[in-house]
Formats: sequence, structure tokens, C-alpha cells
Amino acid sequence: MNDLQLHAVMVPFPVQGNINPLMNLAHLLSSRGVFITFVNTEWSHNRMSTAAAAAESSACTSKFKFLVIPDGLPPDHGRFSKLPEYLSALEKLGPILEHHLLCSLTDGTPPITCIISVNFMSCTYEVANKLGVPRVIFWTFCAASSIAQCNANLLLSHRHIPVKVEDLKRADKEITCLPEFQNKGEYVLVNTFDEVDAPETVSALSINGCPALAVGPVFIPNFLEGKNLNGLVSLSEQDDGCLKWLDAQEPGSVIYVSFGSLAVKSNEQLEELAVGLEKSQHPFLWVLRMDIVGGKPGTLPEGFVERTKDRGLIVKWAPQVKVLSHTSVGGFVTHSGWNSRLESMSMGVPMLGWPYFVDQFLNSRFCNDVWMIGMDLKGVDADENLVVGREEIEKGLRRLMEGSEGEELRKRGRELKEAAFKAVAEGGFSFLNLNRFMHDIAQLSKTASRKMA
Ligand code: UDP
Repeated sequence: MNDLQLHAVMVPFPVQGNINPLMNLAHLLSSRGVFITFVNTEWSHNRMSTAAAAAESSACTSKFKFLVIPDGLPPDHGRFSKLPEYLSALEKLGPILEHHLLCSLTDGTPPITCIISVNFMSCTYEVANKLGVPRVIFWTFCAASSIAQCNANLLLSHRHIPVKVEDLKRADKEITCLPEFQNKGEYVLVNTFDEVDAPETVSALSINGCPALAVGPVFIPNFLEGKNLNGLVSLSEQDDGCLKWLDAQEPGSVIYVSFGSLAVKSNEQLEELAVGLEKSQHPFLWVLRMDIVGGKPGTLPEGFVERTKDRGLIVKWAPQVKVLSHTSVGGFVTHSGWNSRLESMSMGVPMLGWPYFVDQFLNSRFCNDVWMIGMDLKGVDADENLVVGREEIEKGLRRLMEGSEGEELRKRGRELKEAAFKAVAEGGFSFLNLNRFMHDIAQLSKTASRKMA
């Protein structure tokens, strides 16, 4: 029993912001000898334009397999445009997942010893139970917003949410304790690090006293080894040409603009942003997804591309981690998804927040008021229908790139970068937590396999 081969099944929720960190964690575990089965839905897999080829070459080794399963919906179903139906289908995915996993075991792969999934993939709980293996929850949010997610019903019933901005600083509105919440699993990992989420905050995600550990930022060790894992599983075709363009810009001069994989904007808002960028006079690299305006590409003001061609570049999807690590980038206008925030702070790049939904408002607030690496565009957290005007955008961009405020953020950025890299380096806080996880999961798996025997 001492040399039990660990075999982790990794199950992301089928969005970019879940697939990326889970893939990075999978590679960290793989490099520590764990056999990996990485599960994608057919829908995600088919959209991974470059990944399919890459999966067959670099990532897919004899100890790292991809498993592609149907999500139970017809190919032409709108998925995210019919979210309740989509979520309901994913909730019922357990039997399909179990069936495909059992079929995939026939080719001499070691027995499955644990399932690692994001909290949203609740179907993995029943599969883990059926297979008699531990379920590990991997939070792809920061600990603070993961706690808020877990306690959403309670916070609603106490009217702490929806949050009224004017109440935010009132002492009587402060949440000082949280009850135990119901969640199912035997171990909790969080993609965060000690400088931003204290161990006590992460521990609050424990389920019935199980360990809850920070192991992030999980992308850094892979990035340092030159692995382009985000690109490998990218759901959109990545434009690497922008890196050459960045090479030609002045250090710290470029504003990087991206709203992640899901956030949408009105066309009116895109136009205001374009003019704001133009008026700021700073060089910019702008990720303009083809579905940014409710499934469509959106149109820019007439002559904008021509007028800004000497100092602006627009791409459909960028190699974001490489962009943020580029010395030419001086600021990031972000929708505040946790991966984007974490990648940016790990690279020491200050941010101008423009949150859209889910955990993004909380991420913005913490980046501004607690971690001191960001500022927000005025008004964006108070009114979701607000169209931020060109003057406000220009003002925000100048605050970020020019004044003493921006300089303070850059200084803090250097500290956070150092702390993030230190956390995952040998002997660092997250590194040691991952070692501890490896030890504990081996014990849990042995106990589980004894029970099954
Ligand atoms: N990303 C990228 N290229 C882009 C935009 C985003 O590679 O042009 C990656 C980014 O590095 C991050 C993920 O997509 O890892 C987006 O995750 P996040 O949590 O920031 O936002 P979401 O897409 O889930 O809203």
C-alpha cells in the first residue's frame, strides 16, 4: 500500500476562468508524480482551437490524459445564453461522468484515487461517493469571495446583499462572524496566497474541520518553466503577435485592456471606452472579443483604428500572462475576474477595475481598499446600467498611468509580485501547503481504498 499511485480526476466548470487554474494545478500535481485525468465537456473541447492539437503532443503524456464527455445538451443549445438550463444540465452530469471515467480505466490506467473539482460542479460529489474516493474542492475565487459565495443565502436573508455602496463603511453593517456552511468534500484548496488571504480566512472554507489551504498562484511555477498552459486550453484563438508589438513600446507605457471571457458591454460603452483611450494619449493593447456586445463583435467610432494605429493594437484574444509579465505594460483595465486580478498582482501590474458580475465587485473592492493594488472607474460599482463617459475613462487612465497615485500602486505591485513568487517557490507558503496536500491526499486515498477492498 505504500506506493499507491495517486490518480486525480480534475473537473472544471466549463469556463475559461475555471479551466485555466485547474489545468495549472493539474500540471503542478503531475510534476509531483500524480496521474491526471483532465475532464472537458465536448463543447469546451471543440472550442479549444489550438488545444486539441497541443493536447495530443506536449500535455498529453502517458501520465496525463484528457477525457472529453458530453454535457447532455444538443450542440446548438445556447449554453451561457440559457444559463439556468445549462446549469441544470451540468448538475445532472454525474452518471455521464462516472460512466466515461469507468470506461477510460480499461486501458491500464491506475485506479482513481481522488476527484478535484470546483465547487460549482456539484455532480462530482455523487461520483466521488460512488467511486469511494475523496472529493477535493478547488476554489478559483479568492478566499474572501469564496466565503461570501458559500454564505450567499445567509447574507441575503440578513440583507447584507445586494450591497448598497453607501452602507459599505457603516460599522453596523460589518459582518463579524459566519456560521458553518453546508458544503461537501474532504479537502479544500484555494488559488490564492498568504499575502492576500490570511491562513485564517482560507481556513474558514474548511468543511467539517478538513484542511483548507492556499496553494496559489498556481500558474506561476508553470509560467517559470515556460509552459503556456492558458494558451493550451484557450477557448479562443490567441494572438501571439501582440508580444512583438509590445517589444517595440517603452517600458511601463502600455495600458492593457481586457474584460475576460464572459463580460459584455453595450456598443455605446465600447465607443466611450475607445474615445477615452484615444484621449488619454497612452499606448494601449485592447482585447476586443468577437462576442463582447451580447454575442457580437461591436463597432468602434469611425476612424478610431486609423487615428490610433501608431500607438494602439486591438486583438481578439491575448496571451494574457505573457502580456502582463511584459515590461512594456504599465497598467491593466480589468473586469476583475479572480484569475485576471491574481495574474496582474503576481506580475506587479496596477489595475483600474471595471467589475461586471459574480465575484468581480468583491475582488475590486479588496484590490482597492485591502491589497492596495488597484483603483476603480468612478461609479461602476453603484449602477450596473451606468455608461461610463469618455471623460471619466480618460481621467481613470491618467490616474492609473501618470500621477502619484499610480506610482504608489506600482510600488505596492512590486511587493505583491515578490510575495506571490515567494509563496510558490521551494519552501514558500503555498509550496509547503501543496506538499502537505500531497501527503494528506495519499493518506485519505489509502483509507478510502482499504474501505473499498
Ligand atoms: N485570458 C487570456 N487572454 C485574454 C483574456 C483572458 O488568456 O485575452 C485568460 C486570463 O489570463 C485568465 C482567464 O482568461 O486566466 C480569464 O479568467 P478571469 O477569472 O479573469 O475571468 P472570466 O473569464 O472567468 O470572467
